[in-house]
Amino acid sequence: MIVKIDILEYLLMIHYLSLACNRLKKTYQKLEVIKLALPNFEENLQKYAQLLVAKGINVQPGDWVKMTITVDQAPLARLITKEAYQLGAEKVIIKWSDDEISKLHYLHQPVEVLTDIPDYEIQESEDHVLNHRVSRLSIVSSDPGLLNEVDPTKVATYQNVAGKAFQAQRIATQNDDLKWTVAAAAGAGWAAHVFPELSTSEEQVDALWDQIFKTCRVYEDDPVAAWDEHKKLLNEKAAILNEIQFDALHYKAPGTDLTLGLPKNHIWASAESYNPKGEDFIANMPTEEVFTAPDTHRMEGVVRSTKPLSYAGTLIEGIEVHFKDGKIVDISAEKGDEAIKKLVQDNDGATGLGEVALVPDPSPISQSNIIFFNTLFDENASNHLAIGSAYPTTIQGGTKMSQEELLEHGMNTSTVHVDFMIGSDKMDIDGIKQDGTVVPIFRNGDWAI
Ligand code: ZN
Ligand code: ZN
Repeated sequence: MIVKIDILEYLLMIHYLSLACNRLKKTYQKLEVIKLALPNFEENLQKYAQLLVAKGINVQPGDWVKMTITVDQAPLARLITKEAYQLGAEKVIIKWSDDEISKLHYLHQPVEVLTDIPDYEIQESEDHVLNHRVSRLSIVSSDPGLLNEVDPTKVATYQNVAGKAFQAQRIATQNDDLKWTVAAAAGAGWAAHVFPELSTSEEQVDALWDQIFKTCRVYEDDPVAAWDEHKKLLNEKAAILNEIQFDALHYKAPGTDLTLGLPKNHIWASAESYNPKGEDFIANMPTEEVFTAPDTHRMEGVVRSTKPLSYAGTLIEGIEVHFKDGKIVDISAEKGDEAIKKLVQDNDGATGLGEVALVPDPSPISQSNIIFFNTLFDENASNHLAIGSAYPTTIQGGTKMSQEELLEHGMNTSTVHVDFMIGSDKMDIDGIKQDGTVVPIFRNGDWAI
């Protein structure tokens, strides 16, 4: 599962607005074309907005909602806002950003200015989280190569500082103290990466929206009912694994031979999450995974990534990670080596793992054979692991534990959480019980349990 921490949202400033205007004008022209090209686009966008609000963050009367979204997705933002108020939201807060402008900030602000996050922004965020338990909706649409020209050290430094500054929000989100959903919208830069073979930007954006609608079940007559059915299937797998309580998992695949311990009383979770009031929400849309946390003190062996990772605006491919005595002792990548090394070296707790997730290779996203260059989609095509923090919800009593207690129980704590994909149709996974009995969980990339 991924968390998108609002790294760029606060950087939108008034004196850049003239730049944004041109871009907006172009975007609106583009959207006119999309409406014509993709059948019933407006109707489906409306269904999508409704789904995100009703099923994603599950808005209840009196809720505060905070959405992060880029300016080119304003039509979607308007629909979401309208739907949220219709369900009784008390206040909807929009945090706009623009990819081009975000890149300019990164390129031109001195690092000490970039990383000087004013107190009032931290206080605002804390007010939303602590006083209003704001429901968070993050709409991701950015070009995965957006920050390729920016010095990765600068990006890593900023992300580390922002991770600490907005700690209250990050922890409340990871603990499910508030309802939150990460979902996608088809940005033109992103669509160009996914569908380079299509000749116009309009066709690319169109094709990406089509995939978003498909994987989020928007084309179903009743998307909300379709999600209920999907959640039920995932819950059944999670229930079996929770019942058995394996001591460890053993992964075998070309280039991979990895053993991960599992903490005592770990919880396998899936699509559905609950806030402390017992209101359900869906943290990631789409989602196909069943996941828990590994025991970060018991990790041995080697694992290879099977799909590209888009991290901090850089594409990272061919990652190889070596573990010894519960720590990453070596990490390299065929492409993006510097960025992946920096991730592990520069962030607290980034030599540990915080998530192990099971996704069958026959999942719709995997079978589409599309590489989305976006973790929200690519993680649902494949078994994955996350470098960084564990979700406290994946161990009994975890949300009541301090950071130190979590670590004692094998739950990694960190300022980052970055998923990378390791699954394929050649991957076998065994579950190892306390008494040493071995039970097949995955064979040739699909469920065997
Ligand atoms: Zn994750
Ligand atoms: Zn995951």
